[in-house]
Amino acid sequence: ERIVTSTADDLERAAEAALRPRRLEEFVGQLVVRDQLSLVLQAALARGATPDHVLLSGPPGLGKTTLAMIIAAELGTSLRVTSGPAIQHAGDLAAVLSSLEEGEVLFIDEIHRLARPAEELLYVAMEDFRVDVVVGKGAGASAIPLSLPPFTVVGATTRAGLLPAPLRDRFGFTGHLDFYSAEELERVIIRSAGLLGVEIKHAAAHEISGRSRGTPRIANRLLRRVRDWAQVRGDGTMDLRAARAALEVYEVDELGLDRLDRAVLGALCTRFGGGPVGLSTLAVTVGEESETVETVAEPFLVREGLIGRTPRGRVATPAAWAHLGLTPPDPLAP
Ligand code: ATP
Repeated sequence: ERIVTSTADDLERAAEAALRPRRLEEFVGQLVVRDQLSLVLQAALARGATPDHVLLSGPPGLGKTTLAMIIAAELGTSLRVTSGPAIQHAGDLAAVLSSLEEGEVLFIDEIHRLARPAEELLYVAMEDFRVDVVVGKGAGASAIPLSLPPFTVVGATTRAGLLPAPLRDRFGFTGHLDFYSAEELERVIIRSAGLLGVEIKHAAAHEISGRSRGTPRIANRLLRRVRDWAQVRGDGTMDLRAARAALEVYEVDELGLDRLDRAVLGALCTRFGGGPVGLSTLAVTVGEESETVETVAEPFLVREGLIGRTPRGRVATPAAWAHLGLTPPDPLAP
């Protein structure tokens, strides 16, 4: 796995658990969503009712799971966790729903990946707090309505646009999480260092934040690698020297680009004069599958304004040439 990937495996999620903010006020940044959510939760608490269902959208690693846990904690209730891909059949979802207790929060990660029958069952459950349990098969099958105690669904999706409108409409509140500023990530890093029980110099936190691609998950991951370097090769202090040296070992540059990102940019500029060049040609040149280049490297390069997509292929922007320390060819030269 790349060190700058925004997704996490189970092992990393376990390491992340210790760093999760537990309450809304500890959650760094995302001021708009935080403020809106705080109103929704406080109003529900004041009314003694369950809040509207909440949809959280945004790229991986920005805190959707953390916010779901915070919602349950702020409501003083427990959180049940499942995900779209984990629910194969509508019956799996019916089992989860019928075991919910009053006021509980049900977190459905990757909700856009729910199978159609499960999705339809969820509409009814969210709207009427009811599941229709199908008994028997074929012509003799009948649906027995089972009423559910009120609960709150928190759905998470990387792409709200992928949710069918009927499902999206069942959510009373949608919060969109955006990439974090370097200053916000600095606060995440300093907070995490405190929880890990290690001291970090401000300059080191600043250095790590700038290379974290706007993503707290990556910031925390880089922080752990800098801590390793400081312990093994330094004197234990996480200072600017340790941060720079560790990130050099992992080949993460000042913009947060890794080797693959730089290979793509380098090929585009030096082999193809800045493009335009087709995706598959570019991928072959860097020895990767087209899909890897398109889904793993390109989104961040485009977001950073280093690569442009045109109908004729990929092009390097002036910022790409500048980042590689190269001069673009003179278009008027023979
Ligand atoms: P995925 O969709 O991959 O599950 P996610 O959006 O649910 O990602 P989280 O698992 O909530 O992301 O967050 C990843 C890590 O980043 C966690 O360790 C979490 O503590 C940290 N983190 C995320 N947002 C914040 C924040 N606003 N303040 C402090 N730490 C944060």
